[in-house]
Amino acid sequence: MSLRLKFVLALLFSSIASVALVGGVAYVQLTDKFDSLRRQQASLHFIASVTDYLTRYGGSWQAASAVMPFRQFMEQQGSGNGQQKPQQRPPRPDGPPDQSRGPSPGDDRRPAPDGRPAGPDGRPPGPPDAGPEGGPRRNDAPPFRFILLDSQYRVLLGAGDYAHDVVAPPEIQRDATPIVINGKVEAYVAPQGVLAPGKQDIEYLAAMREALGYGAAAAAVLALGLGLLLGNGLSATLRQLTRAVKAMRGGALRQKVPVEGGGEIATLATAFNQMSEELAQSHEALQLSNQTILEQASQLKEMSIRDALTDLYNRRHFDEQAQQLFEQSVRHGHPMTVVMGDIDFFKRINDTYSHATGDVVLKQIAEILRTHMRISDVVARYGGEEFVIILPETPLPQAAALCDKLRQVIEGFPWTNVHPDLRVTMSMGLCADVAAGTVHAMLDKADGLLYRAKEMGRNRVCFA
Ligand code: GH3
Ligand code: MG
Ligand code: MG
Repeated sequence: MSLRLKFVLALLFSSIASVALVGGVAYVQLTDKFDSLRRQQASLHFIASVTDYLTRYGGSWQAASAVMPFRQFMEQQGSGNGQQKPQQRPPRPDGPPDQSRGPSPGDDRRPAPDGRPAGPDGRPPGPPDAGPEGGPRRNDAPPFRFILLDSQYRVLLGAGDYAHDVVAPPEIQRDATPIVINGKVEAYVAPQGVLAPGKQDIEYLAAMREALGYGAAAAAVLALGLGLLLGNGLSATLRQLTRAVKAMRGGALRQKVPVEGGGEIATLATAFNQMSEELAQSHEALQLSNQTILEQASQLKEMSIRDALTDLYNRRHFDEQAQQLFEQSVRHGHPMTVVMGDIDFFKRINDTYSHATGDVVLKQIAEILRTHMRISDVVARYGGEEFVIILPETPLPQAAALCDKLRQVIEGFPWTNVHPDLRVTMSMGLCADVAAGTVHAMLDKADGLLYRAKEMGRNRVCFA
């Protein structure tokens, strides 16, 4: 599961949980408060009716009952006789005064004085879901009624639960509210049962539930949108980081991801960019150093196989190459010629024109040999003023012709540019006898023929 999806889901669930918790608590609190206010209003209204009744008809229960039974008084109140209205009901805290839930006469949900007789059949009409004759009640709770007690807590009206004239139990007495007429407690009123919600109350609570539901849905949609927005922003840099790491693994070490904001992700991106840059620099330095080492190794190898003065191959390298070429020649039955060359009277050149002039002659002869050879030929300075050449795939006549040409080139070179009196020649001995057995045997033969060339007067090519 991607980080973005996790973030969105976390935000969504936490939002829904928060809304459900807050909404649930608010709903319970509101319902409780609503119930409590309704009970309080009903009590106030009933107390006002009793007070009005007692005040109007003699001040005491006995006196008032003698004039008019309380039930009749309440029926008159309930018949809509405005003159009989005890007093204005207290306004609902959450609605207009005429929508009061108080048990006033005429109100079809007012509680009866004894919880029963108020309607034409001697019972109060009562709320359809609250009275004994009404419909279903909340949790089958007892209907909401009032018990009227005299000043000695004896039951005057028992709401059907208590017999007349018995002393009310202590729990009823504890909840009873005194009715004071002319400074004297004439009666007590105690509420009992549960005040079940009326149709309007139920509609009101349903509307509140619906509003809370809409609130929760709106919060969920908001959380989803916010989650997508924030999740996108958060995971964008991480996605770029992941791409950059993959690119680094592929060899592209110098990576740069955008740094946005100042949080942990930005710190991570900055650290990553620094690390990538340092890694790329180290790698470049390492590559450079590796390149230098390789070049130096190559140079060292070249130096180890070449003669410093003439830059021709040295004797050691020549011996290795000669052996290989000889073996190839034998294996394939191909011709091969070895040549030994020696500068004539070189000691005299040194002695006459200086050792430095001798060095110049050596270098120039090396250059002449190099420029007249094929790539497959091997030329080396064998020692002092001696040179050796291997001519693979070359039979003796061709080799002899080439060497004689070389001899002529050396003899004809404008040595007078080096010194006006300088003259340089070279003698050579050739051997193409692969059957000699070894390359050194061939070289020995070539050396013998060189010696013969010297003996014959120098500046010549001898072969056999
Ligand atoms: P020959 O014609 O019989 O070959 O006579 P030569 O004088 O060439 O032969 P010799 O062997 O007597 O002399 C070779 C000289 O080469 C001796 C030595 O001082 C000189 N020599 C050897 N290596 C070098 C070098 O690197 N530079 C110079 N300038 N001279 C060198
Ligand atoms: Mg020599
Ligand atoms: Mg010599």
